[in-house]
Amino acid sequence: MGKTFYNKLNRQLEDMKSEGKYKEYQFLKTPMSNKTVIENYDEVIVLCSNNYLGLSDKPEIIKAGQAALEKYGVGAASVRFICGTFDIHRQLEEKTAEFLHTEASLSYTSCWNANTAVIPVLVGAGDCLISDELNHASIIDGCRLTSKKVQRFVYNHSDMNDLEIKLKEAGEFDTKLIITDGVFSMEGDIAKLPEIKALAEKYNAIVLVDESHATGVLGNTGRGTVEFYNMLGEIDIITGTYGKALGGAGGGFVAGKQEVIDLCIQSSRPSLFSNSLPPVLAAMALEAVDYLESNPGIVKSLHEKTEYLRKGLKSVGLNPLDGESAIVPIIVGETAKAISMAKAMLDKGVYVTGFGFPVVPEGTARIRMQVSDALTYDDLDYSIKVVKEIYDAY
Ligand SMILES: *Cc1c(COP(=O)(O)O)cnc(C)c1O
Repeated sequence: MGKTFYNKLNRQLEDMKSEGKYKEYQFLKTPMSNKTVIENYDEVIVLCSNNYLGLSDKPEIIKAGQAALEKYGVGAASVRFICGTFDIHRQLEEKTAEFLHTEASLSYTSCWNANTAVIPVLVGAGDCLISDELNHASIIDGCRLTSKKVQRFVYNHSDMNDLEIKLKEAGEFDTKLIITDGVFSMEGDIAKLPEIKALAEKYNAIVLVDESHATGVLGNTGRGTVEFYNMLGEIDIITGTYGKALGGAGGGFVAGKQEVIDLCIQSSRPSLFSNSLPPVLAAMALEAVDYLESNPGIVKSLHEKTEYLRKGLKSVGLNPLDGESAIVPIIVGETAKAISMAKAMLDKGVYVTGFGFPVVPEGTARIRMQVSDALTYDDLDYSIKVVKEIYDAY
């Protein structure tokens, strides 16, 4: 019995290898920055990190983490409601709420956790979910974790006519929760929040936006899609991560009205049955938000570098997907091709990711580049040259 089971697993792995879809980790030996040292490679330029603001190796943030380790130790070794939570959690949560212009926020160990926590708290029997088809996997799983009695609707990506059709179909449901990524991670495009909000008002629905790829990136001061559209304070629920632009260590949050946060504290399963964000991460996330607030120039600088990369790729005849986020994908077709191209780029010292099925639909595999304010213009020039060279060679 055991033997056939392990044979089955091995067959799955062999199939992935023969199809060129087998992923291997790269092991980093230095901090994430514009460049990093990867085991078996020299230093490479990094175009695949979510380290958008270059905060991953900021001395101020590292120091805040060191101080928190000294002050709070490793952690509480328990769940918050059972054995207490650190004051640094409250500071981070108050700061995050203030930053996003919401009443309150609650931290989680990741945004994956935050999404799977909050969505089942917001809807139950008699309610429905209306989710963009390209929403992040953690939103999909959050929806799957709701009661079986919750009706699920999925609308075509950013298709406002389809969203309206679904809202009409959802007429008889009590709570109608529309969920969208702020910035879609595989396309780099931005949700149509003003239209979504207008439809939500028309059909009496609630809106949840996951700002993971938008916080620190969009808006003049990095407050995300909501700031980009001048809609601060107008969205019911925001989720996001401290594991991308805001330092990159890890952690996530739910932000919204006090009663949403209170209900998460009472009923969300990750906060009831799992440890809090480690205090060292809370301290670093807090310092990252503080740093961003005191240095809004890094957001403008990121926008300029992103624009530079997009223009540069176009000037050599490449065709990145349009968008205003710091995610710059080029579609190349088949999964194996994207993975093989990314490997060839890495051999030339440029670290990008090839994404294919099942992360994106078959046939739309892509090389995804992400801009960081840590990158220099020389890094960008060299990367454009390499991407062009490899693209042409395939
Ligand atoms: C990255 C990402 C997450 C997961 O964030 P973690 O904090 O790493 O768990 C959730 N939602 C979206 C839209 C993301 O891009």
